[in-house]
Amino acid sequence: MSAILIDGKEIGKKVRGEVRDGVTQMKADNNGYTPGLATVLVGDDTASSTYVRMKQRACEAAGINSFGHTMGGDTSQEEVLALVSKLNADPAVHGILVQLPLPDHIDEETILTAIDIEKDVDGFHPINIGRLAMKDREPLFVPCTPAGCMRLLKETGIETSGAEAVIVGRSNIVGLPMAMLLQKANATVTICHSRTKDLTAHLKKADIVVAAIGWAEMITGDMLKPGCTVIDVGINRKDDETRKRGYRLVGDVEFDTAVEVAGAITPVPGGVGPMTIAMLMENTFHAAEIALAK
Ligand code: NDP
Repeated sequence: MSAILIDGKEIGKKVRGEVRDGVTQMKADNNGYTPGLATVLVGDDTASSTYVRMKQRACEAAGINSFGHTMGGDTSQEEVLALVSKLNADPAVHGILVQLPLPDHIDEETILTAIDIEKDVDGFHPINIGRLAMKDREPLFVPCTPAGCMRLLKETGIETSGAEAVIVGRSNIVGLPMAMLLQKANATVTICHSRTKDLTAHLKKADIVVAAIGWAEMITGDMLKPGCTVIDVGINRKDDETRKRGYRLVGDVEFDTAVEVAGAITPVPGGVGPMTIAMLMENTFHAAEIALAK
């Protein structure tokens, strides 16, 4: 058996297209009113700079204004807070994205809590996360990567209600919000982590597996229940001398063995990755709608 491939590139393109159309309509109906996303990058981490650039390019393609703020690695917490406060007050800015991780001397929670929840397009503000965790409450914004995973499930027609879902990983940005979203979608959710005693026993029962571990190809096909859906969030480098750069990207799931057992699976790259930025664009558009409604 060979699983259906869940094509994040195509689905991400569809989401970005919907946002672009929404932005065009918004501008036409409201005298050029344009959604705006401010990015805040502290320090010169290469991966973070690349992510910020990708986000800015996606804004441009969607017709969203982007306002880039780059601060040196020795910037104080007070200076970052002052910038966040200025962006909170700026009516041209509808979404604020502080690129993580921040340098060690800056407290992440202090900065994330300072962002106006109506501009919290990353969905990491404790109030948004709290609402996500609570019954009958809805956050204004859902964190982008888990939101992208949910969209992949929806677009592929995977039934979540009543499904056994196993999330491997409990980070604040992926595993935990993903578990909350799946339980809101009426799945029966198990969260596994580094202290889980028998991961395979849990995976064998799972109709939906979400892998967010950061460990190359840790989950193999023989650990999965036949016909399950696999959402592989992991992005890991694996040495590969046949490639010019000396490595290739692989997920947390061993694709070649999992594809023979699963019913549907996301590839890496080209699965969850393209969805994260697409959902950021959707959240920014939504933030502009919230501001407009006021
Ligand atoms: P973290 O390092 O924050 O979390 C990893 C989680 O995996 C932890 O909860 C940890 O458990 C758990 N874990 C570690 N070892 C094991 C094990 N042996 N068995 C079971 N669980 C284990 O990672 P992130 O959530 O930030 O990222 C996970 C992966 O997703 C990474 O590869 C990252 O690059 C990728 N990623 C991809 C994105 C995308 O857009 N596609 C976006 C964000 C991340 P414990 O809590 O006990 O330590």
